[in-house]
Amino acid sequence: MSDRLCYIRSDLSQLAAYTPHPGGESTAIVDRLDTNESPLDLPEEIKSKLAWAYQQEIEANRYPDGSHDELKRAIAEYVTESANVTEPLSTAKISVGNGSDELIRSLLIATCLGGEGSILVATPTFSMYGILAQTLGIPVVTIPRQEDFSLDLDAARLALEQIDNPPVRVVFVVHPNSPTGNALRERELDWLTSQPENILVVVDEAYYEFSQTSVVGELAQRSNWIVLRTFSKAFRLAAHRVGYAIANPDLIQVLEKVRLPYNLPSFSQLAAKVALQQRQLLLPLVRQTIQERERVYLILKEDSKFKVWQSQANFLYLRLQNTARDRVLAGITQNLKAQGTLVRHTGGGLRLTIGTPEENNRTLERLAAVDVAAR
Ligand SMILES: *Cc1c(COP(=O)(O)O)cnc(C)c1O
Repeated sequence: MSDRLCYIRSDLSQLAAYTPHPGGESTAIVDRLDTNESPLDLPEEIKSKLAWAYQQEIEANRYPDGSHDELKRAIAEYVTESANVTEPLSTAKISVGNGSDELIRSLLIATCLGGEGSILVATPTFSMYGILAQTLGIPVVTIPRQEDFSLDLDAARLALEQIDNPPVRVVFVVHPNSPTGNALRERELDWLTSQPENILVVVDEAYYEFSQTSVVGELAQRSNWIVLRTFSKAFRLAAHRVGYAIANPDLIQVLEKVRLPYNLPSFSQLAAKVALQQRQLLLPLVRQTIQERERVYLILKEDSKFKVWQSQANFLYLRLQNTARDRVLAGITQNLKAQGTLVRHTGGGLRLTIGTPEENNRTLERLAAVDVAAR
């Protein structure tokens, strides 16, 4: 780092900024299948409602509601209805963030900052845990996954036992995992359940609406577990940056302490409330996405170049059958991009978001035409 920036922490000089679209944006991109967003914008009806509400209800000169009260009530109702819970979820068990990314950062600040702890992740997985930890100077302990992408539990046990400088304080898992699409299995859940009170277990359910599998029903018995959810995927609100956490009220209190006071703009709070009210208009697309995912899966399975896995989310993960991976995959990613499809090259494979049928068909054609032998 240059002398001019000598006031910057030295460990940040090694860190690259997160670039969702490496190599810059090309104008010819039509099929953006790299960030697991919903392929469809909000319905016109909901957009008009939001525009109207902006004019009538939002005072642009006032700070947003820093308590997020109404939004929390709407979230509590939705979670209670959709999860296997016996009593209505209290708003004291919910914290709202500027995307779940903010909640991840708040959790890191609240648990590991200042040399107090390390985090454990099993790769390939969502990259933000590691990136955010690094920006805070928090060590990241990485363990591998098995052939079926479930956690390597022996490696996990060993890491928890042996790493003490600083010890692992938080385990991050995604349920179902990104980029690989697998939900947690019984064996993994048992291991997470066996974690002592001094380990925080974060279960990121960003793809809950697609998997319909959740551990929220477990939270009453697990004071050291926290569930993260987001409006960025099935609810089609990636532009508005809204995520939420569900956990015991004491842990939620700490998250509320750590966050910025006005972390969520009024318009984003409004958009999330309206999306929840109108969920019968938004969520049916989930079923279509799942049908498309199964169709695309079956077609890719027939392509001998690729190995593809079943997924419980809105994306598929594929690897090349018999080729040295990353250089070739980088070439394929570039080649697809030149034709107008963005996919995500990560963890030694390609993650393909399920788009509209048209987007999927174009992308399937482009993948079928990939010539691995020529590379
Ligand atoms: C997309 C995604 C999120 C969502 O992050 P936001 O900040 O809410 O947009 C969180 N976790 C995982 C695993 C994701 O894939």
